[in-house]
Amino acid sequence: MPWFKKTRKPMAASKEKPSRVPEGLVVKCPGCSQILYNKDLATNLNVCPKCAHHFRIGATERLRMLFDRAWTEYDKDLVSTDPLAFTDTKPYKARLKASIETTGVKDAVIVGSGTIEGIPAIVASMEYGFIGGSMGVVVGEKITRAIERAIDTRMPVVIVCCSGGARMMEGARSLMQMAKICGALARLDRERLPYIAVLTDPTTGGVTASFAMLGDLNIAEPKAQIGFAGPRVIEQTIRQKLPEGFQRSEFLLEKGMIDLVVDRRELKGVIARALRFMGAGRAAVPVAAVAQAAAPVAPASQA
Ligand SMILES: [Zn+2]
Repeated sequence: MPWFKKTRKPMAASKEKPSRVPEGLVVKCPGCSQILYNKDLATNLNVCPKCAHHFRIGATERLRMLFDRAWTEYDKDLVSTDPLAFTDTKPYKARLKASIETTGVKDAVIVGSGTIEGIPAIVASMEYGFIGGSMGVVVGEKITRAIERAIDTRMPVVIVCCSGGARMMEGARSLMQMAKICGALARLDRERLPYIAVLTDPTTGGVTASFAMLGDLNIAEPKAQIGFAGPRVIEQTIRQKLPEGFQRSEFLLEKGMIDLVVDRRELKGVIARALRFMGAGRAAVPVAAVAQAAAPVAPASQA
């Protein structure tokens, strides 16, 4: 005979009354543990209104935030060919297919041209949701083409980095993209066109080791993790405890690795101001014409 008896029936889960809080309506802020409405968060550019924690945002959202209105997307249909026929826990081809389905983009970067506060610019925005925003052949090619297009059309370049580094499933080919993009950026520099790198959480590995650190201005979002190797690997290698805030934007600003830490809500304005300061947005003038104009000429008339 049992000691305790259940005299009442357990409450049946009611099917008629669904929960009043639908899935995805609220989110808990990792910074201050406040419960936030997703709608409020979206109107605040996904920054916590209470503690300014910056939530990660997708590539499309980022472009929507930076451009004044619709933009023209380039090389939308480039897809990786899986050159090594690579398989880890699952085949790389299957991984690509799953990422394309969940993110709606064909690889980890979206490239477009539009205007930022009226200044025509080319922006490349990385998508972390696509295999950790990793840089493979397609990312390298799209960014390189974007820079070349900027040179042809005399436009500044902004790259929003959000990446775990090079894409291991493409082996050495992914590493070669570092040199390819840097080469294109060197040509952009020779053409005296501005390049702004925006570093968001996280910017690591081969992306940090190449184009993320080459901006005429390197801007980071608050508390973003920016580094090459992860802190645990470094701790194990040097056998020392790492300082507080290591690899975070504010720490790197203090050490001179980056130029500015800017709140996302002010980012567009800061980028536009910097581009204007660097001479972007003026009438497109070829370098040869600028050189000619700079040459001493006899004044035609006295003003
Ligand atoms: Zn918060």
